[in-house]
Amino acid sequence: MSEGFFASAYGGDASGLPAEGDAVLASTARHRLCRLARLLELPAMRRAESRIFAFGRTCTCRRDGRSLRETLDFDDTLSIRALERLWLHSAASISNPGLTAARLMYTDLHCHSARPEVQRSLVNIDLAELNTNDIDAVVAAAGRSRISAGLHPWHLVEHGLAAAFDALERLSPRLAAVGECGLDRCAATPYELQRRTFIRQIECAERWEKPLIVHCVRAYGDLLVLRQTLKPKQVWIVHGFTGKPGLAEQLVCAGCYLSFGKALLNPRASARDSWRTTPLDRVFLETDVADISIATIHAEAATIRGLDLTALQRQLVANFDRVFR
Ligand SMILES: [Zn+2]
Ligand SMILES: [Zn+2]
Repeated sequence: MSEGFFASAYGGDASGLPAEGDAVLASTARHRLCRLARLLELPAMRRAESRIFAFGRTCTCRRDGRSLRETLDFDDTLSIRALERLWLHSAASISNPGLTAARLMYTDLHCHSARPEVQRSLVNIDLAELNTNDIDAVVAAAGRSRISAGLHPWHLVEHGLAAAFDALERLSPRLAAVGECGLDRCAATPYELQRRTFIRQIECAERWEKPLIVHCVRAYGDLLVLRQTLKPKQVWIVHGFTGKPGLAEQLVCAGCYLSFGKALLNPRASARDSWRTTPLDRVFLETDVADISIATIHAEAATIRGLDLTALQRQLVANFDRVFR
C-alpha cells in the first residue's frame, strides 16, 4: 500500500471529501487509517479504485457507485476489523482478489496457540489440564486471538472439577465460546464423568449466551439426544469433524455447525464428502493441534468444493462474525 494513494484519497485533494466533520478528529482518523492500511497491506483498495474517507467516527468506502459505511472506534483492533469489513465488501468484484486475500482472511475455528498469519481464530484453553495459576499467562499468549475455554473430556479428574469450573466462571466475560468440551468413547476418563461435566458446560454456555465448541468421538448418538432433550439456544460447533455425510446432515439439522481440519488432506477420508455436502453457512475450518498451516487447509477445502479461495474465505469470515459476536 503506498502512502501516496491514501494521501490523495484523504487529504491531498480535499475537494472530494464530505464537508461535515470535526477537522481535528478527521486528521487523526486519516493518520490512523494510513497506518492501519499499511499494516494490512491493502493494495486491493487501490486496484479497485476504491476510496475511503474518514470523518469523525465514520468511515465510508465508495466503489462502483456503492457507498458502505463503518463506524471506527479508534481502538486498533476494532479499526482493523472495520477496515476488513470494508475490504470484504469492496473486494467483491476485484479481478484478482487473491493477491491480498492471504494476509486478511484466514479463519481458524479451533487451535491451541495463536498463529500470527490468521486473522480470526479461537485459541482454546483446557482448564481441566491447566494449573489455574497459569491462566493469565495463557490468556496473554493468545494475543489478539479470541479465546475459548472449557474442560476437555480427556483430562477430567473428579477432584479438579471445582477449581476448573471456578476458573471457567472467572474467565467467562473474556470468552468467545465455551469448550472444547464433550464426549469421547475412546478416552480413558469414565464416561459418566465426561457426560456430567459436558452437561454442566452446556449449561454454562446457555447461561452466558455463548457458543459451545464440542469434541465428540464415537458418541454422536448421545450428543444428538442431549441436543434434543436439553434444547439449548446456543450454537454448538462440532470441531474436528471426520464423520460421513449422513451424520453431518443429522448434526446440521439439529442446529450444529461443523468444523473441518486436517482430515480434509487425506484423499480417502469421509470428511471430504461431508465437507463437500454441508451447507457453506454451517462450516468452519481449523488447525487444532495439527502441524499444518491454516492456509493449506483452506486451499484444499476450496479445491474439494470447486470454490474460489477468496469466496470461501469471505464465507468463513461471515460465519465467524455471525457466531462469535
Ligand atoms: Zn478435540
Ligand atoms: Zn483441540
